[in-house]
Amino acid sequence: STLAAEIRPFIRDLPDYPSSGITFRDITPLLADPTAFSRTIEGLAGLVPDDTDFIAGMEARGFMFGAALAHHLGIGFVPIRKAGKLPPPVKSYTYDLEYGQATVELRDGTVPEGSRVVLLDDVLATGGTAQAGAALLEHNGAQVTDLIFVMELDGLGGRKVLEGRAVSALLAV
Ligand code: 5GP
Repeated sequence: STLAAEIRPFIRDLPDYPSSGITFRDITPLLADPTAFSRTIEGLAGLVPDDTDFIAGMEARGFMFGAALAHHLGIGFVPIRKAGKLPPPVKSYTYDLEYGQATVELRDGTVPEGSRVVLLDDVLATGGTAQAGAALLEHNGAQVTDLIFVMELDGLGGRKVLEGRAVSALLAV
């Protein structure tokens, strides 16, 4: 699409980072350009159903886009953080990684039962992070209607992990 083409130049490809053979997609140029950032938020807004109550953003880059998006839409923002960062009381969800486990947390009481939530992150890679965020919200009574991303990385199986969910991204790389 034209939006994807407009945004793509503001994503920097960093080869062999954080390890050999991995290409990291750096979104800091996109954040720094006022027009590209604004167009990104408008594009994300187009992926959010009208009856959405909250945008939930995954730490940490999901906060940057998510808070701007929630503000743009005039709805609330909910941060989902790594364990130990949010003040208690929190609700936790622990999931398996390739090596070991990870825990994500949500402030207890911020999302009323039955709330319609759109989960946002900058990048969909293997899908594990977004799946954990959605499960955390759902275990605590929210309805996760959509998972949205600035960018999805092809060939890492994220769509498969999120099968059965409504997934969209502004661009694929
Ligand atoms: P997943 O759990 O889907 O494998 O990884 C997605 C998570 O890792 C997201 O929170 C995302 O911010 C981060 N991530 C993984 N790869 C990249 C990348 O190339 N660029 C950026 N900006 N984030 C990435």
